[in-house]
Amino acid sequence: MTDDKKIMFIDGKEVEFTNEPNLLEVIRKAGMNVPTFCYRPDLTPFGACRMCVVEVEGRGIQSSCTMPPENGLKIHLNTEKTRRIRKTVLELLLANHDKECLTCEKSGSCELQKYSEEYGVRRIRYPEKKLEDYLPVDDSSPSLVRDPNKCILCGACVRACDEFQGHAVLGFANRGSKTVVQPMAGKPLGQVDCVNCGQCAAVCPTGALTIKSDIENVWSVITNPNKKTVVQIAPAVRVALGEMFGLKAGTNTIGLIDAALRKLGFDLVFDTNFSADLTIMEEASEFLARLKSGENLPLFTSCCPAWVKYLEDQHPDMLKHLSSCKSPMSMLSPVLARLVPEKLGIKRDEMSIVAIMPCTAKKFECKRPELSTDGHPDTDYVLTTKELGRMIKSAGIDFNKLDAETPDNPFGEYTGAGTIFGASGGVAEAAVRTAYEFATGEVLENIDIKEMRGTSNRSKTIQLDLKGTKLTVRVVSTLREAEIAIREIKEGKADFQMLEVMACPGGCVNGGGQPHSCDNSAIKQERAEGLYKEDEELPLRKSHCNPSIHKLYAEYLESPNSHKAHEILHTVYTNRFEYSYKNI
Ligand code: SF4
Ligand code: SF4
Ligand code: SF4
Repeated sequence: MTDDKKIMFIDGKEVEFTNEPNLLEVIRKAGMNVPTFCYRPDLTPFGACRMCVVEVEGRGIQSSCTMPPENGLKIHLNTEKTRRIRKTVLELLLANHDKECLTCEKSGSCELQKYSEEYGVRRIRYPEKKLEDYLPVDDSSPSLVRDPNKCILCGACVRACDEFQGHAVLGFANRGSKTVVQPMAGKPLGQVDCVNCGQCAAVCPTGALTIKSDIENVWSVITNPNKKTVVQIAPAVRVALGEMFGLKAGTNTIGLIDAALRKLGFDLVFDTNFSADLTIMEEASEFLARLKSGENLPLFTSCCPAWVKYLEDQHPDMLKHLSSCKSPMSMLSPVLARLVPEKLGIKRDEMSIVAIMPCTAKKFECKRPELSTDGHPDTDYVLTTKELGRMIKSAGIDFNKLDAETPDNPFGEYTGAGTIFGASGGVAEAAVRTAYEFATGEVLENIDIKEMRGTSNRSKTIQLDLKGTKLTVRVVSTLREAEIAIREIKEGKADFQMLEVMACPGGCVNGGGQPHSCDNSAIKQERAEGLYKEDEELPLRKSHCNPSIHKLYAEYLESPNSHKAHEILHTVYTNRFEYSYKNI
């Protein structure tokens, strides 16, 4: 054995390891696994649930998520003792758990349900929770539902909120058998500074934190013969939905999604990538105007509603930095709300606009009063990727056997710049592709700005040369990183002119509404690569080269940043600091 070759033995099999932080990662790398509720590779190990126990020769029972690997260790995964401990943990959790599995939002994807079945838990030997101990379900949030009766105190949500968003919205309260996880000060989730990112629900192994479902609302409009239904699909959905149908992460299924949406009954299928191109036309123009005037720099991107709300809640003094551009979803909906009824000869309320998003915060965004026209929300309903997958399954559609279709036009045509919005760095890269050509009048030859890409590095600073003009762009994902950037600006240390923020680690590819991915941190990169592949393969890769965008300006919006464009495509923000402060 050489110094740099480290090995251990798992169930008698020799396994090499390098820099894995704990035994659990070595076990997984060797193609094996042990159950866990609380371990999430992107979060600090907690060692709370005791499901990942292994027997280490000479050391006894150890939690594999907290024990570092050592050369020569001999470990056993499924001994009589480890299986007995796991089964006892399951029984104890079930004794204290709501048992409405059949009607639970998480049924079929709940880890407690899965392990109880795998470990053959058929009876519970411990006293069960009494009816009077049940706590009320909290559905005050526009995006999430919190059912404390299904919480197993794994702490994953508390760590996700803190470590990703730097936000102590959720925390442990009380002690001993009275311990609960709850929003700050015991308030309902809808009344605290939650930004609706859904990262807590994404890591929750049970039905204690789930996405607020709009599936029934959407079925009711699809099946209503008096409604025309129009749908748009966000960039990141296409590279993740396939996972719910056994396809590899990153597989671009947009053609199958278009076909599935028509089979579900939607009348018109458009693509949010189109309005990502529209966003770039507006945002690149706004950025160049600010560069020229030197005002309100750095410019903050504004397409992530969790980030926008964070700024409104915590730093209203910085709102002037936010681009006034609506998000791509909220740009496309008002355009559709005006032009589709005109084209079809119907009234706005005879049409419903649905958006398929990777994002739980979009459920909040679509309810913002300023994103409505004549009192009617521009986007009627937001469905997450996961909700769409469930609708497709419940309709009995064999997703993988569909013939790929294309979206309807003109709002279905898009460039590669629109596609890459779904990954952290994508908005800034798309903006620079257009801003360069707008500013210099010359063709940008090398359009792949690879330094902006990558889902594991949550903060990147990229220096660019716009033909003599030096430009520095900061790309961050997670609000924890955004907060660092804001501090730098407030302390006068910031040296960047544009700040792209996505609240979810790695961007929308890893949004709270995407299929479960918290056991495997590589999935978000695989999804991002799927988007960059589509970008490379598309004939047009710069937003300002999209002919349908030019037509829309020529026929309706006049020009980027025109009065008309401002009326429909731009928005205003709210100082929520006082409101949120008063509510604590
Ligand atoms: S949605 Fe986001 S901000 Fe709100 S509690 Fe969950 S992790 Fe925290
Ligand atoms: S709400 Fe979910 S993630 Fe949070 S502690 Fe409870 S079970 Fe764990
Ligand atoms: S990063 Fe994307 S998915 Fe996450 S909250 Fe922001 S817009 Fe939604």
